[in-house]
Amino acid sequence: MGGCQKVRKLRRLAAGVPVAPTGRRVDVHVHLSRYWPDLARNSYRPDLEFTVPSLLKELDAQSIGFAVLLQLYSNPTPAGVLREGEEMFAKSAGRLLKTVTIDPTQGETVVHDTVALWERARDLVAIKLYPGYRSFYPHDPRLHPVYEYAHKAGIPVILHQGDTLDPDGHVKYARPLEADEVAVRFRDVRFVLCHLGNPWVEELAEVVYKNANVYTDTSGLLANPRVPYFAEMMRRAQRRLTNALATIGDCHRVLYGSDWPLESIETAVQLITGLDLSPEDQERILGGNARALFRIDPPA
Ligand SMILES: [Zn+2]
Repeated sequence: MGGCQKVRKLRRLAAGVPVAPTGRRVDVHVHLSRYWPDLARNSYRPDLEFTVPSLLKELDAQSIGFAVLLQLYSNPTPAGVLREGEEMFAKSAGRLLKTVTIDPTQGETVVHDTVALWERARDLVAIKLYPGYRSFYPHDPRLHPVYEYAHKAGIPVILHQGDTLDPDGHVKYARPLEADEVAVRFRDVRFVLCHLGNPWVEELAEVVYKNANVYTDTSGLLANPRVPYFAEMMRRAQRRLTNALATIGDCHRVLYGSDWPLESIETAVQLITGLDLSPEDQERILGGNARALFRIDPPA
């Protein structure tokens, strides 16, 4: 356990927050927020409960100890983002890890003030950005203070990639090629490109292969398991992931994620366990890689 991890664990214990008791696996991509009014309409099951216990139950069923809770840009204030993250962290006994988000189109002053707020926050594990949903490229100069903060804090920047749930999004902002630009410029920052770059999976694989500071997650590639062609959807997602692995050459920068509640945790895990990989590599994708990237404590 590194010094940084020790400090984090001690802080959790001091705050009366237990370290997750079970599960080596990590889901790097879940959402749960009161600022997502369409959550119910978009979830994989119409009667799903959007509560911490309901999410933890699905995680437990798949031996997942921690999940990275990605904050949404629809949260009205930067302080509100931090507050909601703290609240979910406490309610989940430290298992839903804290992230922040920012929309750089709000202007340089907002970016500056928000980063100042993050500097006083504790135990953030990542910054999530939403190019495509909002009209900005990852290499927008207004984001430079965000990348400098990520470098100083030693936390990754997670970029939405590819298709947007919102038809008013502009996907041109969310191509892996645009992320390559910023990965080269900020070599000391680690970037996670979500959703295998769907539909630009080959482009994504090239950007991950070329840049040692770029990772990808497997979230959001499946839909509601009751759609008639779900089995084909699963097979295609597994083929695409296998092709991406063939380009990258190893699985060390590939991270399992679900995009719950859009996707069930169970089917998102099946996407990985159904791959023709060694059990060791499957578990790397399902948690080992994420534990290293997000510096997550080993279970007590
Ligand atoms: Zn998502």
